[in-house]
Amino acid sequence: MSVKVRFAPSPTGHLHVGNIRAAIITWLFARKQNGVYLLRIDDTDNERSKEEYVEGIKNDMTWLGLNWDEYARQSERWDRYNEVIQKLKDNGRLYPCYETEEELALKRKSLLGRNLPPIYDRAALNLTNEQIQKYEEQGRSPHWRFKLEHKPIEWDDHVRGEVKFHGKDLSDPVLIREDGTPLYHICSVIDDIDFNITHVIRGEDHVSNTATHVQMFEAIGAKVPDFAHYSLLGSKDGGKLSKRLGALSIAQLRDEMHLEPMSVNSLIAKLGTSDNIDAFKSLNDLIETFDFSKFSRTIAKFDPDELIRLNTKIIHGKEFDAVKDRIEEMGIADMDESFWLAVRENLETLNDVKLWWQVAKGPVEPEIEDPEYLEQASKLLPANDWDLTTWDAWISEIKANTDKKGKGLFMPLRKALTGMTHGPELKGLLPLIGEEKAKQRLSGKTA
Ligand code: GLU
Repeated sequence: MSVKVRFAPSPTGHLHVGNIRAAIITWLFARKQNGVYLLRIDDTDNERSKEEYVEGIKNDMTWLGLNWDEYARQSERWDRYNEVIQKLKDNGRLYPCYETEEELALKRKSLLGRNLPPIYDRAALNLTNEQIQKYEEQGRSPHWRFKLEHKPIEWDDHVRGEVKFHGKDLSDPVLIREDGTPLYHICSVIDDIDFNITHVIRGEDHVSNTATHVQMFEAIGAKVPDFAHYSLLGSKDGGKLSKRLGALSIAQLRDEMHLEPMSVNSLIAKLGTSDNIDAFKSLNDLIETFDFSKFSRTIAKFDPDELIRLNTKIIHGKEFDAVKDRIEEMGIADMDESFWLAVRENLETLNDVKLWWQVAKGPVEPEIEDPEYLEQASKLLPANDWDLTTWDAWISEIKANTDKKGKGLFMPLRKALTGMTHGPELKGLLPLIGEEKAKQRLSGKTA
């Protein structure tokens, strides 16, 4: 039987580091298995779902290279959901409940106060017809719960191994809201059945949902798929992923930080696995090394510095042709290959290219400290063609002919040549600035 997997984002926000993991892991598994990959938009929440987020999801996935073979939207499938729901009502697996949010909260509080798990007491199952009539007369409409069978629920999880639950330890999940709209759980199960999903792969925050889903598959008379629940991302100290980092959107990584897609893919694919985190050149290399048996059950620690480390490695290997268009989009129109080759090794992200360009091409307003020394240094500038050896040659001359050393030697040069107290290495910068501009800046002129 051929493998079929889905990535099922809810379009209620931009994809971020925390949830792109689902896209990458499901995709790698599907491709490794030569399976089919479905992008399913879980847009049953009418109020929070937005078209701009659907577009964002598609853009982000395309940028990362995660192509999909099939596409579906839950909002187009109401009739099908209602058909299945009616059957579940007819055979008594869905039952109406009239408790308000406040009443339920009170019940939970009282159970917790007695050190008992906050499991729904099924009071609604014992309602008499008169009571139901009374509620209806009061204008209350029911939400509907799925009646779990009190029996063991077990599956062999591709990441977590043997997982065991018991129906009696779980609350009957609410599947239909008071306004009659179905909730994620039942829509997801119906979709997984109708689209022939063989492997449901998602974060471990869904494990207890899965236990109830298993019984829904059975109640609908479908085969239960395989499951894999990978661990969630945490921060580098092992705690929860902070809001700030967790909310780093893929669009930000792309459009603001100018990262390379393969640094995101490489890090996210290998986080929380026994493989080394390294800069992978292509998705194909990641597919080849993908295996659920390498996934750890403990929290995967996300460190944005690691993203930069991988990005640095990847960008150093980039040819000019591969980045040319993006550099143009950043507003730098006339950069050539030799400039790229000279600065490439000093970039962490493509964004850094802007700084080099500005410092090399000017105008730079020099900051003059110790003008006498600068004049002397200017005279010592090597006369032959400038290249990456020029800086060292110049510094040797300065050392031999002045008593300057350390900060007193370097800082006035940097401030004059770049107008800044910090920045890219002067060794790479000097030949790009060129003799004419260097001399002007050393003499205090804006150039
Ligand atoms: N829309 C759900 C979510 O984003 C999908 C979970 C699943 O994979 O079933 O959490």
